[in-house]
Amino acid sequence: MVKICCIGAGYVGGPTMAVIAIKCPAIEVVVVDISKPRIDAWNSDTLPIYEPGLDDVVKACRGKNLFFSTDVEKHVAEADIIFVSVNTPTKTRGLGAGKAADLTYWESAARMIADVSKSDKIVVEKSTVPVKTAEAIEKILTHNSKGINYQILSNPEFLAEGTAIEDLFKPDRVLIGGRETPGGQKAVQALKEVYAHWVPEENIITTNLWSAELSKLAANAFLAQRISSVNAMSALCEATGANVSEVSYAIGKDSRIGPKFLNASVGFGGSCFQKDILNLVYICECNGLPEVANYWKQVIKINDYQKSRFVNRVVSSMFNTVSGKKIDVCKGLVGDKAQVSIYDPQVTEDQIQRDLAMNKFDWDHPMHLQPTSPTAVKQVSVVWDAYEAAKGAHGVCILTEWDEFKKLDYQKIFDNMQKPAFVFDGRNVVDAEKLREIGFIVYSIGKPLDG
Ligand code: NAD
Repeated sequence: MVKICCIGAGYVGGPTMAVIAIKCPAIEVVVVDISKPRIDAWNSDTLPIYEPGLDDVVKACRGKNLFFSTDVEKHVAEADIIFVSVNTPTKTRGLGAGKAADLTYWESAARMIADVSKSDKIVVEKSTVPVKTAEAIEKILTHNSKGINYQILSNPEFLAEGTAIEDLFKPDRVLIGGRETPGGQKAVQALKEVYAHWVPEENIITTNLWSAELSKLAANAFLAQRISSVNAMSALCEATGANVSEVSYAIGKDSRIGPKFLNASVGFGGSCFQKDILNLVYICECNGLPEVANYWKQVIKINDYQKSRFVNRVVSSMFNTVSGKKIDVCKGLVGDKAQVSIYDPQVTEDQIQRDLAMNKFDWDHPMHLQPTSPTAVKQVSVVWDAYEAAKGAHGVCILTEWDEFKKLDYQKIFDNMQKPAFVFDGRNVVDAEKLREIGFIVYSIGKPLDG
């Protein structure tokens, strides 16, 4: 029986391994992590992450051929294939700070593999890593290898948060990169056989190691670039009277462009796009390609511009001051002293507070982040209901595309807000005309302005 171990029970490690387990009943899959609370959560009824369909998959195979454990060394030693899916955040200090990927977690995982292994291993890069990382990992593993044969593969993950299980069940493609040696190709074949349990052969792409490593960064950079392109157009639409939804539809009909990823928004967030582009920029700079680096930097600049444009629009629409005004969802507004009340059906208060902190907001009063402190000014609050968030507010910002936000009773919301009542639609999810009939002043991103 083939044994798989995955180091890192996070957003990627947990769901990807659960899907391998359910699709390959003859393979034993153990997901290990140094975080006991994470592993306890994977072994409980409340999984550490929310993804549609994930609960059912985990429940169907946990305890049969899918296990979660903190006994990292034991399971790594026993495995034939080791996926490494640890976090690779942006470095915060030292060489490359603010751009380069921090490979500390990867390095310690690789050193641990080298320490405990007693049999040949296939080590799979599941985390997103800079191109050429496999070369460094090989050095760590093969130095003092005690005769053990290690084959490093790159198998980047393309799932998107929110559709992880669907993406894993029906991936557009699975990418496997390996050394062009007989040993490397044998390892590629072994991993291909795992995926072949459910992925059609034509969707499994094999490449050399560096192509696979670079393709992950390239894919995220291209997706983010598309978002920045349409957002750049949204600014021009607002300036000229064009409507970004109409422009997107018109250009998306061109089969060379295609209709996906063309919705204007307040910009990309999430954990990956910004981090991966910064990483790409750093790699370009390290390889003596400053012009290429500048090209990708611009994608992030436009994203930042779009966010500040949105905040500026909110502030200027509301008579140039939001001081003390209650507004639903918008962390940038805190800097302008708005009272922000946040509601998101899928996000916990902990996550929101962490997100605010991670955005390195320049807090005048860091106590804002600790609402439990007696001296804290409670400028940001998290509520559990959209109506509660909007109650008494001067303006509502819509920043995510949850269906729930399309179906809200906006008359009820209007009745409970201060007047004039503003809606700032950063995703173009609401019917602006209907809201205007109710009495709202509506700003829809990339669309002609409300009179
Ligand atoms: P995560 O932070 O959710 O999980 C990483 C886990 O690794 C944590 O639970 C941490 O405790 C564990 N870990 C760190 N060092 C360890 C060690 N030495 N031994 C055992 N466990 C260790 O991260 P994630 O979102 O799952 O992302 C993992 C990688 O996949 C990153 O490189 C990320 O860029 C990439 N990725 C993420 C997504 C996404 O949507 N989240 C999509 C594709 C790729």
